[in-house]
Amino acid sequence: MSYTLGKRSRQRLEGVHPDLVRIVERAIEITDVDFMVLEGLRTVERQEELFSSGASRTMNSRHLTGHAVDLGAYVASSVRWDWPLYHKIADAMKQAANELNIPIQWGGDWSSFKDGPHFQLPHSDYPVIVKVKEAA
Ligand SMILES: [Zn+2]
Repeated sequence: MSYTLGKRSRQRLEGVHPDLVRIVERAIEITDVDFMVLEGLRTVERQEELFSSGASRTMNSRHLTGHAVDLGAYVASSVRWDWPLYHKIADAMKQAANELNIPIQWGGDWSSFKDGPHFQLPHSDYPVIVKVKEAA
């Protein structure tokens, strides 16, 4: 069984780092669980919303620089949030990253505030200086 990325998923990969796109493109070929890209590059305004609502714990998100994607498990035409599905997606993402020799971090491996849909390129290998816009 092999899945493909849909049109919306492809659109949401625009602005995402090409190495991370390659991992996602390989992972969809080998995953046991279908997934869609929920979010890639994020604006500072959206990050501020997520941060103030508690949905995100940082203003230094890798989404702001295109170094992160959120993937949603897609089962029977809807996005599902059951953890076992995300472990399977993570297996595919890690295998894809390993094949491509690109480092990847999964939010589900974090010790606190686990984030199953979240995958990112590590700061250590992909450093960036984030310029956060000053409030007017
Ligand atoms: Zn995320």
